[in-house]
Amino acid sequence: MWSDDTLAELDRRVTWHPFTQMAEWSPLVIARGEGSWLFDTAGRRYLDGVSSLWCNVHGHAHPRLDRALRAQLDRIAHSTFLGLSHEPGIRLAAALVEVAPAGLTRVFYSDSGSTAVEIALKQSFQYWQLRGRPAKQRFLRLADAYHGDTLGAVGVGGIDLFHRVFGPLLVPSIAIPSPAGTDGAAALARIEAELEQRAYEIAALVVEPLVQGAAGMLVHPAGFLSRAAALCRQFGVHLIVDEVATGFGRTGTMFACEQESVAPDFLCLAKGITGGYLPLAATLATEEIYSAFLGARSELKHFFHGHTYTANPLACAVGLESLALLRESTLSNAQARIPELTEALARLSAVPGVRAVRQCGMMAGIELEPIEGRALGVEICERVRAHGVILRPLGDVVVWMPPLSITADEILFLERATMMGIMGNGPG
Ligand code: PLP
Repeated sequence: MWSDDTLAELDRRVTWHPFTQMAEWSPLVIARGEGSWLFDTAGRRYLDGVSSLWCNVHGHAHPRLDRALRAQLDRIAHSTFLGLSHEPGIRLAAALVEVAPAGLTRVFYSDSGSTAVEIALKQSFQYWQLRGRPAKQRFLRLADAYHGDTLGAVGVGGIDLFHRVFGPLLVPSIAIPSPAGTDGAAALARIEAELEQRAYEIAALVVEPLVQGAAGMLVHPAGFLSRAAALCRQFGVHLIVDEVATGFGRTGTMFACEQESVAPDFLCLAKGITGGYLPLAATLATEEIYSAFLGARSELKHFFHGHTYTANPLACAVGLESLALLRESTLSNAQARIPELTEALARLSAVPGVRAVRQCGMMAGIELEPIEGRALGVEICERVRAHGVILRPLGDVVVWMPPLSITADEILFLERATMMGIMGNGPG
């Protein structure tokens, strides 16, 4: 075994971590996981309060997922989905179609949330070309949207801090004010006005349903999604719903769309699709969209897009088992825990230094009163870590995104550690 110090030292010399100021960072090296817990190389344990970046569903080292993965490994680890097929890819696609909102009948695999969105944008764009509407090339999106870090996804994103520097590389999109924190009327009126004026040049509206996660857990008013969906239908514009963060039970239903009875034209899935085990993503589309791409090979209507590891069989096999587990027990556990999370957040909202708490199912944000010149989110997450919980902030918002399999006691542990972290905060 390599020692803790050797690994940390080597990490500093050879790696470059995402979204990390490497000059001000020292590594915490994780050795293993079990249930809701992560263990570092020194044997200390931490509650995984952000589900390993919002993707873990059933906890770490779940025996059923481990078994499904090993069984697939005994058959084959990888074979391409370009021009060939395989059982786990076929069966997972059928299972996704079964649980997805009505009308989504086709599954296009890729390997991250960003690519799932990228693919929906490209398929929508090409669909309109194929249907003889070549002017429909632009996308509507919400202010402060986040859809991933590849250039297409950044083009429909609106988080200035992440995206500003790449401005010159992006295809511009049309921003609608976020409905978060309002009754949604202004955002809807703006969508309607844009569509009235120029639906002829708009391919799709892209939205994170119910809650804008990376913007700081900004919760939308009830009814916004269904009304936006109705406007898209009325004006002949696609609705792309990005459930990369909200999908697979995170908001208390299998998909957030269900809560507003919305059946989009495209559904983007990733993160929880494999229970948090392996990189996999899926873009689901309707039969109408799929059928536009059909024709003789020589017509070149097909979708020219694919990745080497598209539909990786190990990922699909674990995804299939994860979905079964979610439907059997993990989703109902999450539903039972959500009110407990609400109570914990209500107690935290009374702690001095907390400006607001926001929640959508098992996604929550604790917004801190800012202090000039301080990176409070980072500071508090560091202190919370000393109390045995891993959290990651979004600016001045501390995020709670625990595995859906979390227990009632673990929620109390999460609450206590967060409270200690916030209360340890004083003017510095
Ligand atoms: N879309 C949403 C709503 C997300 O929250 C994220 C990641 O947080 C992404 C897309 C990008 O996913 P990935 O990091 O897998 O590319």
